[in-house]
Amino acid sequence: MNIHPKRIAILGSTGSIGTQALEVIASQPDFFSVEVLTAQRNADLLINQSKRFRPKHVVITEETLYPKVKEALQQLDIQVHTGKEALLEVVKIPEIDIVLTAVVGYCGLAPTIAAIEHGKDIALSNKETLVVAGELIMALAKQHQVNILPVDSEHSAIFQCLPGEEINPIEKIILTASGGPFRGKKRDELLQVSKAQALKHPNWTMGAKITIDSASLMNKGLEVIEAKWLFGLEAAQVEVVVHAQSIIHSLVQFEDGSLKAQLGLPDMKLPILYALSYPKRLKTDFKRFNFLDYPQLTFEQPDMDTFQNLSLAFAALQKAGNMPCVLNAANEIAVAKFLEDKVKFLEMSDVIADCLAKIPYIEKPSYQEYVQTDAETRRLALELCGK
Ligand code: MG
Repeated sequence: MNIHPKRIAILGSTGSIGTQALEVIASQPDFFSVEVLTAQRNADLLINQSKRFRPKHVVITEETLYPKVKEALQQLDIQVHTGKEALLEVVKIPEIDIVLTAVVGYCGLAPTIAAIEHGKDIALSNKETLVVAGELIMALAKQHQVNILPVDSEHSAIFQCLPGEEINPIEKIILTASGGPFRGKKRDELLQVSKAQALKHPNWTMGAKITIDSASLMNKGLEVIEAKWLFGLEAAQVEVVVHAQSIIHSLVQFEDGSLKAQLGLPDMKLPILYALSYPKRLKTDFKRFNFLDYPQLTFEQPDMDTFQNLSLAFAALQKAGNMPCVLNAANEIAVAKFLEDKVKFLEMSDVIADCLAKIPYIEKPSYQEYVQTDAETRRLALELCGK
């Protein structure tokens, strides 16, 4: 047992991963305590969570909601902060052992960098951070000797296959994809699909952005890029296979041809727990997998002609430089506009492809150049969505 429970900061505590992380933490009070909670605008849930978990610091980034949160927590020994900049400050608090980055999108990048620079381990749920600036993040993590512990189920699976293999190079990794709600559909069947249809994921319950990304296979594209950086691979060493049941969470192939996989029911609580408890495995009462409930596990090639986002992601990774950053920013705008019914499902790929073609290439971007690339791409993507 630790000398003290591991002290955790959760960025994005009111989202899907944040709330599940708090369930995990509540079930392991000897091992974990909550030091910081942050939310963008869900003040009511943040207040409830704070009353229950008693963090030392709370951030509500939306400034208009600050008085409400401040007032609700004033009797408790909790400091309340507001504004985006506050995220960069709270991750530096000396008492924090690990930062769970459960915010969605590009906004996770700056607080993650601040946390790494202050020596905090990262439980990485915000995959966009590595998509946008993987090279920079991994170099910083090495420099500051912090662990980047994956929360994404596929990357957690691979990470769980690696202990004991330190001297053995990876030949390739195979990321499994559920295929999402539109698996097996062709382009003409996807022309008019609605937001409600895209939001119905067959296996996983997740936030809106990642659910749309799963339906378009962009989520898998982002994960390919995330995996490249996390595991130090070449683009050609990352493969995707569609596995509709989401039981095999991903596989590693070593140079002797042996494959290792991690299996389990689709439940994010397990990868969240492993990232927080690593290298230890803690006892849980999570539902156990039964092979007899799944007499068939199936595998198929991803359909990249229909789901062009996946091939766009491979292309962006191949070009490298600032192109994955462009891919991500264009996708964030396209998904937001799809959720507002302003662009159609298949048009999201057109917006992204256009941005990849038009934004100037930078081979080795600095942090500032990533920031510029992101802003420029968002402007262009908004323009393209407005047509
Ligand atoms: Mg995943």
